[in-house]
Amino acid sequence: MKLYFCSECGAYDFGNADLCLECQAPIPKDSWADVSDEDVTQLDYIEDFDPIEGLPTWEYEVIKLMGHANDQGPNDDDILEQTRIYNEHMLNRMGDKGWELVNIVPMGDKDGPRYGVFKRAWLDEFEE
Ligand SMILES: [Zn+2]
Repeated sequence: MKLYFCSECGAYDFGNADLCLECQAPIPKDSWADVSDEDVTQLDYIEDFDPIEGLPTWEYEVIKLMGHANDQGPNDDDILEQTRIYNEHMLNRMGDKGWELVNIVPMGDKDGPRYGVFKRAWLDEFEE
């Protein structure tokens, strides 16, 4: 089933609403995922956890990294160098904005593109 995610507050909904029911932010048209009943059960389970006062909360981003060795000729140094420069730039931009790279993972196909998993801490959750 299709689940739509709000990029502002993290709420999710089954309907294709233009605005988030929780925070009224516009929901991007491509911000959805096809999920199973098991996935929804897991999300509901997480929803029941409360944050703990005094501890940071974490925000995560998953961003596709450019390039993969199998896409290119094995000796194409120019393309490999451009890929390196792009990824280095992207990682540094994320670092500038407070995001720490915590993992690099494939999604599904282990030979497919790699995704960087970034996190950053929120310490002021309870001062709003
Ligand atoms: Zn929202």
